[in-house]
Amino acid sequence: MLDDIVIGLEIHIQLLTKAKIFCNCSTTYFDQEPNTHTCPVCLGLPGSLPVLNQKVVEFALKTALALNCKINQTNLFHRKNYFYPDLPKAYQISQFDQPIAINGFLEIVPENSRTGRTIRVNRVHMEEDAGKLIHLERDGQIVCSLVDYNRSGIPLLEIVTEPDICSPEEAIAFLQKLRTMVQYLEVCDGNLEKGSMRCDANISIRESRTGALGTKTEVKNMNSFRAIKKALEFEITRQRRLLERSEQVLAETRRWDEASGKTLSMRSKEEALDYRYFPEPDLPPLTIEQSWIEQVKNNLPELPEQRKERFVIDYKLSNYDAQRLIEVKSLGNYFENAAQYYQDYKNLANWVLGELLRCSGEGNIAIESCTVSSNDLVELLQLIDNKTISGKMAKGIFEEMFKTGQSAADLIKKSGITQISNEAQINDIINKVIEDNPETVQDFNAGKEKAIHFLVGQVMKHTKGRAQPDLVLNLLKERIDKNS
Ligand code: ADP
Ligand code: ZN
Ligand code: MG
Repeated sequence: MLDDIVIGLEIHIQLLTKAKIFCNCSTTYFDQEPNTHTCPVCLGLPGSLPVLNQKVVEFALKTALALNCKINQTNLFHRKNYFYPDLPKAYQISQFDQPIAINGFLEIVPENSRTGRTIRVNRVHMEEDAGKLIHLERDGQIVCSLVDYNRSGIPLLEIVTEPDICSPEEAIAFLQKLRTMVQYLEVCDGNLEKGSMRCDANISIRESRTGALGTKTEVKNMNSFRAIKKALEFEITRQRRLLERSEQVLAETRRWDEASGKTLSMRSKEEALDYRYFPEPDLPPLTIEQSWIEQVKNNLPELPEQRKERFVIDYKLSNYDAQRLIEVKSLGNYFENAAQYYQDYKNLANWVLGELLRCSGEGNIAIESCTVSSNDLVELLQLIDNKTISGKMAKGIFEEMFKTGQSAADLIKKSGITQISNEAQINDIINKVIEDNPETVQDFNAGKEKAIHFLVGQVMKHTKGRAQPDLVLNLLKERIDKNS
């Protein structure tokens, strides 16, 4: 049976405002003592009243405009009613039929694909986060559940796509692009592991022949790109198997279980009706002036796409290198700081995308807190260019710089590992190598061009890699010519 994959995403991002959405409590909750950033409003105590944080609206506008959305100038907040211990009011203040923005889009280029795709954004709305439940387990059984309300009332934006996504790869491309964008906008840190960006994925299988949309399931609880991809792949296979056996896909919410690598049923899907939405009586309708929208639009920072174009034009980088450099804002900044003082941009990009990413990745260190500053890297590259050290030696030195925080010059001085460019010194070694390998020399003289590379290798070995290979090759050829 021919079929198509249909995916729509619902993404929640936590906004980086200082205060919560409806009260003055601080939004820092990670690693904090539980229930220390709370007040009557975010604890949902009777008689307390919400007051909308203006910064939340500004951040929502920035995001919605970057997503090419139409802004609704008249906004309403609604109560979404459900009962759960992490939701002290037993309703969440959210937006329903008059959200802040609708009808946007984002262009993506999935990995291993040459053509871009447009994914439509259905809506963007503001809401409050719930608290966090911590389950204490003994022998695999929950024995007690604790609740931390520090997260209660942290501002969220929900971004809902149309079901335009056709593969797990496209879903990942969309999420990666969105994450980079919110980081550039400085509205969210985009951290999936810590839950400041969360994604629910809706998936169904459409029969190509009839074109009719299939029943969808919603999968939650993935906290990395890898998990999202695996969960989508699992769910697609599960649904296909059901359909092949002419069984039904149930409309339900499923949970990704990292340990077993499966999605498990949580509950049957709730409908909007189940939430008994009604307008929040404690918040007046919000009117957003056109002048405010214009002001936010005019003050948008440079976005990833624009920066990429600039990198290609100004630094003559390939699309691929530019894309990788801009993907993480701090990496792009690192490159640009170095590029002010170092003009072999391609070489610089290779080092930033190669050694810097490798060392920071292995140590799980953020680019902005690396011990090797962009100036330190420039100094190292200049030492290669003026032939004080070889490129190969530089890699080892870079690793040392990364570990110890010392400068390239200091490390070179300490270890005395400068490159040997003294011809007399190299010639002594060449003499020895020629003496030790008469057959190879004969081979070379007999026309075997490749034989000389073995001899170069031998010289490099004797110098522990400190000689300049080009120089060694030239000197070797000269010497053999003279002898023959
Ligand atoms: P519901 O009313 O069930 O909540 P919505 O129309 O509000 O559904 O859509 C919720 C999310 O599900 C959106 O991201 C949307 O793109 C996606 N979606 C809708 N229909 C399908 C489908 N048949 N297959 C996959 N995703 C879908
Ligand atoms: Zn509060
Ligand atoms: Mg819906």
